[in-house]
Formats: sequence, structure tokens, C-alpha cells
Amino acid sequence: MPSLRRRVTVWYAVALGATVLVFGTALYVERRQSSVREIDQRLFIEADFARRWLNESYRVYAGQVIRGGEGRELEQAIAANFEGVRDFLVVSDRRGDYLYLNEPTRRLNFAAVEALTALLTPPPAATDSGTIVDPVEGNLRFLRMPIADAGPEVGAVLVAARTSDVSFGPEDLLRSMLLIGPVILLGSIAVGYFLAGRALAPLRAMRDELEAITDGRSLHRRLAVPMSGDEFARLAVTVNATIARLERSFASLRRFTADASHELKTPLMVLRAGVERALTQPGIPAESLEGLDQSLDHLNQMSELVDNLLMLARADEGRATLAVEPCDLRALVADTGETAEMLGEAAGVRVTVDVPPDPVMLPVDASRIRQLLLNLVTNAVKYTPNGGEVGLALADLGHELVITVRDTGVGIAAGDLPHIFDRFYRADPARSRAGDRPGTGLGLAITKWIAEAHGGEIAVQSRPGRGTAFTVRLPRPPGPA
Ligand code: ADP
Repeated sequence: MPSLRRRVTVWYAVALGATVLVFGTALYVERRQSSVREIDQRLFIEADFARRWLNESYRVYAGQVIRGGEGRELEQAIAANFEGVRDFLVVSDRRGDYLYLNEPTRRLNFAAVEALTALLTPPPAATDSGTIVDPVEGNLRFLRMPIADAGPEVGAVLVAARTSDVSFGPEDLLRSMLLIGPVILLGSIAVGYFLAGRALAPLRAMRDELEAITDGRSLHRRLAVPMSGDEFARLAVTVNATIARLERSFASLRRFTADASHELKTPLMVLRAGVERALTQPGIPAESLEGLDQSLDHLNQMSELVDNLLMLARADEGRATLAVEPCDLRALVADTGETAEMLGEAAGVRVTVDVPPDPVMLPVDASRIRQLLLNLVTNAVKYTPNGGEVGLALADLGHELVITVRDTGVGIAAGDLPHIFDRFYRADPARSRAGDRPGTGLGLAITKWIAEAHGGEIAVQSRPGRGTAFTVRLPRPPGPA
């Protein structure tokens, strides 16, 4: 199950990632636009400089150009002045053929030079700028400017620059973001995970406390209400109120069960004594005898149910005490084995008993342990069909004693296994309640209580159709044997 902490962190990371992405994209777009503006300004200054210089030099050298017809000095002067321009610079004549390429332009690849000079054919009518894409040089931003006042020869000037050629251009920004972005993101996720953990810590503490409280026996306890006065504090107050209500209704339920079973006990005893007495009367007709027999059976079942209910109610209230004294468990198990053999004989089930050769002494409440053993073996016989087997065994492991009751009976479905120790739980009730396996579903709840009241535990393993094994472990208290 994905934890809330992880979910919060993932959402945080998604939100942060989206923010970084949007912010980065905006920054990138803005940087791109401003780098174009930056380049355009530079190109304009350079083109304007070239235009003014050509104009000026035409006035100085004009006579010479016209006289010599070659313009050598002008050419040299152009070269001397324009070689230093850092961007690409092209001067063209009035037809659009280039007159001069500065040094960076001459170093460009041929296709790029072609593309740039083509921009001057025909010469532009007005100053404008744009971008061309060259597969080798990348994006080239250009600005072309007509020159009308530099003699009959010069037509226009074009300056161009790589769009990447600005200090900290968009590409630099992108590279930095790709480099730093993941680091920032990972760092923030780690911090987010840590913070989510801290924020949810009170919730975790509350859950642990609540788990300990709702095990059924600790409903008198309450959650600690955090001093913070925040949502967690309010939650704790609400949960405490709910536990208090639960505690009250559990208490009244327990009281009712205890009172009702107590009140039922005496009339049931009187009834049973009456029926037993009636059964011993001579000359009772056969039908009446049968009816009385059945009544006695039902009365016995009811007394057992009432006894069990009373015991569990007392256990819940903490009033069920154990009369603990050293007992020989081997004798207890062997006794129960005899009863089981009798039950097995009636049901066509073979019963085997396996106990150690020597007495096994343990301080226990003998009558409770007898009840535990009887519950397990009667169940084993009850849920094992004719021809099956039931084995009762006791093993002394030194630090603990292990009682095992196994059978080759109907088994318990995996879905029922976790519930069979619950009160009134009966697997497949339709099969057993009305049929030949009467019961109340309280036996195992009591068995578990007895095992735990002795500091021990009970476990079950079962395979439907193959059989069931109950294992009770009773710890041997430390001390002299
Ligand atoms: P019940 O009075 O119904 O026997 P228990 O508390 O003793 O009540 O047992 C609860 C349920 O556990 C029974 O209804 C039965 O379905 C199942 N169960 C107990 N022991 C065995 C067993 N040895 N084999 C198969 N099912 C069993």
C-alpha cells in the first residue's frame, strides 16, 4: 500500500517539476527574445557605422576612384576598417553583387556565404532584419541596410551574427537548467519526503496508539492529544470521544451478558434437576421419556452456553480468576484422551494419545486446562467423519509445553481460519448449526482465552478435506523445576 507520505512526496514532486518546467520555459523564451533584441541592436550599430564610413570615404576618395577607375585605395581603406568588425559583414554594389566580405565572413562555409550574399540581390529598399538557418552555422540573424549616398558603386551593407553569439544566450541557459534542474528537483524531493514524514509523524503515533487501544481489552485508554491544537489534535479529541462511546456500549453489553447469564443459571439448574428427577420416575410412557431426554439435552446445551457466556463476560471485566496450582499435565491430557476415546468410539473415529512417560508438572488452573483440552478434542471428533483419526499429544520442550490436537476431518476453509477464535463464529453454519454438529461458536473463543490467561498461545493449521491441527503452547515459568 503506498503510504500517504510517499503520495504527498510524489504530488509535491509533480507540482515542483511543473513549476520548474513552466518557469524554465518562460525564462528560456524571454532569454531568446532578448538575445535577438541584443543582436539586432549590435547589428544596427555595425551596419550604421559601415554606412556612415562608406559615405564619408566616398567623399574623401571619390575623385581618386573616378580618376583611377579601380578604387584601390578605397578598397584598402574598406578592408582596413571593416576587417575589425567582429560580425559577418558584406558590402554589395547596386546590382547586388558583393564588393567586399570581411574576414569572419570569408571563413564561413560556402553555402552560408551564398545565402548571406543572396539576401542583397536585389539590394534592399529599406533597412530590415531576419533570421536564416544554415545547417552548419546554425541560426544566423542578419540586418541589411541600403546605402544611397556612398557613390554610384556601393548599393547596400549586410551584417549578420550567430544567434548563439550573445553572452549567456538561450542555449547556455538551457544547458544550465538541464544541469541544475534535476539536482534541485532531487534535492527538493528529498526535503519534501523528510518534511512529509515530520508532518505525518503525529498521525503515525496516533495509529500505533489506536492499534494498542482497539485490541479489545484496552478501551479504557485514550489517545494523547497533541498540544499543537491543529487538525491532529482535533482528530485525537474526536477519536477519544468515539472510544469513550465504544467503551460505554461494550461495558453495558458485558454487564447485560453477565447479568442475563447469571440470572439464567439458577432457573436452568432447577429445570435440569426437575427433568432429571422426572426421568427417574417409574412407569413413564416411552414417548414422554423420549421428550424428557431431548429436553435434558437442550437444557445441557443451554447451561453450557450460559456458563461459557458468563465466563467470557467475567474474563472481559477482568473478574475471571485462575486457581493456579502445580498440576501434572500428563495426567490431565491422558484423562482427556480417555474421554476422547469414548467420544471417538461413538462417532467411529480412532483416537490416539501420546504423552511423555513421566509426570509433567506445571502451575495451571486444572479445571480450565481440562476445559481447553475437552473443547479441542470434542471439536476434533465432531468435525471428523466416521473412519477418521484424532491424535492428542503432549510434548515437554523444557521452556514450554506443547499440546497438539490433530484430526483427519473436514478441515477449515482459508477464509474462515482467521475468524474461528471469534465469539459466535461458526464456519459453514448452515452445515453445522442445524445438522449433526451442534455448537455455539464460543468453544474456541474460550479455549484461546484460557491459553492466553496462562501466558500461552494457540495456533491452528488446516487444509479443507484433509484435517486440522491445533497447537497450544504453555510457557514454563522460570525457576527451579
Ligand atoms: P462450535 O461450537 O461451532 O464448535 P467452536 O468455537 O468450538 O464452536 O469452533 C468454531 C468453528 O471452528 C466451528 O464452527 C467449526 O467450523 C470450526 N472448527 C473448530 N474445530 C474444528 C476442527 N477440528 N475441524 C474443523 N473445523 C473446526
